[in-house]
Amino acid sequence: MSTIDPFVHNPPFPKNYASDFLVMEKGKGCYLWDKSGNKYLDFGSGIAVNALGYGRSDLAKIAEKQMKKLIHISNLFTTQPALEFAQALVASGPFAAVHFGNSGTEANEGAMKYARVYSLRTKGPGKHKFLSFRNAFHGRTFGALSLTPTPKYQAPYEPLVPDVYYCDYNDVEGLSKILDDSFAAVMLEPIQGEGGLNSVTLEFAQKLNELCAKFNILMIADEIQTGIGRTGEIFAYGALGLKPDIVTLSKPLAGGLPLSATLIPKKVNDIIHVGDHGTTFGGGPVTSAVGLHVWKIITDPVFLAGVREKGLALRQGLEGLQKQFPNLTGEIRGKGLLQGIQLVLPEGKDVSTVVNACREAGLIILRSGTNLLRIAPPLVISKNEIAKGVEIIGKVLGTM
Ligand code: PLP
Repeated sequence: MSTIDPFVHNPPFPKNYASDFLVMEKGKGCYLWDKSGNKYLDFGSGIAVNALGYGRSDLAKIAEKQMKKLIHISNLFTTQPALEFAQALVASGPFAAVHFGNSGTEANEGAMKYARVYSLRTKGPGKHKFLSFRNAFHGRTFGALSLTPTPKYQAPYEPLVPDVYYCDYNDVEGLSKILDDSFAAVMLEPIQGEGGLNSVTLEFAQKLNELCAKFNILMIADEIQTGIGRTGEIFAYGALGLKPDIVTLSKPLAGGLPLSATLIPKKVNDIIHVGDHGTTFGGGPVTSAVGLHVWKIITDPVFLAGVREKGLALRQGLEGLQKQFPNLTGEIRGKGLLQGIQLVLPEGKDVSTVVNACREAGLIILRSGTNLLRIAPPLVISKNEIAKGVEIIGKVLGTM
């Protein structure tokens, strides 16, 4: 590590962020360098965003070419990149249209609005309730925040959107008790990315499919973290048995540029009218051109098979840590290149202690829930790099 401080202290960012930021300068492949020249292997991808890694000249060239042609045109017009990308997204499942936005929370706001309008126009007024699940994370704007039942995120901003209900994730009985015709939509993550990497069980998925169909409730799969190859499939919902109506995407959608997608089925598209929803920047030509390129790379079956294979290598690495540190580790959760290992740390230490020690040892890594070390590297990571990262985690755990 360099002796020059790579951190900035008390920068002019609001106090809802930490007071000390590591200043990152550049990246190449799966490595990052800070302003003092320290090099890090990246097991975080900017929180599951940089799926194709850093320093990609293909992405830069596409963005530059499109920026020289046309950067922005509003939703009064469309462009060839937006059209082509929309066609590809819609063809990836039982969808009729895609609403582009700029962030995950915005994709979920759109899904909530479509669900409300669908329920109003198909079931009549008063059937507007939403259901989400404990430990979910759907975003920070008011609608998405209302479906994110973490007291520390919600409490300062109450009152939130009314008529939102919560149930325990994978609680089949609780789900059966609460859902009825008065609900417009249920939103869930197939794997809870921020909330501890639990995956939906098959029994729960089947019950949810059944109840949504029975009461004409829209199921919204928030695949903002799990979608576009992260689990080794284009979407995580299929392998887990879920049959969502609406799917939301964002994080890796444009390789690190801000873009989101709310994919809607024909039955929703058929009842919405001009002006029901909109955006200024969403689906602009630059993000769409880059997004289409990222999509073509990731959805190639050979690429996806590679992610699954590397996911298995990661799982084996984490199992190795379990064996090496039986007293410091618990369950391994997640799928593909979104996995985590539970940590059981001595008094006075928590996951942040390990995250910080990993960073000092040259590895960027994430946390999930209260006690999980989360690994979400660029999908282009190699098996050697996975082994190297796991080795660093092992060294750090050896000091705990
Ligand atoms: N949904 C999920 C599953 C997420 O993981 C996140 C962000 O971490 C969001 C929604 C919100 O996305 P954004 O921060 O882009 O608004």
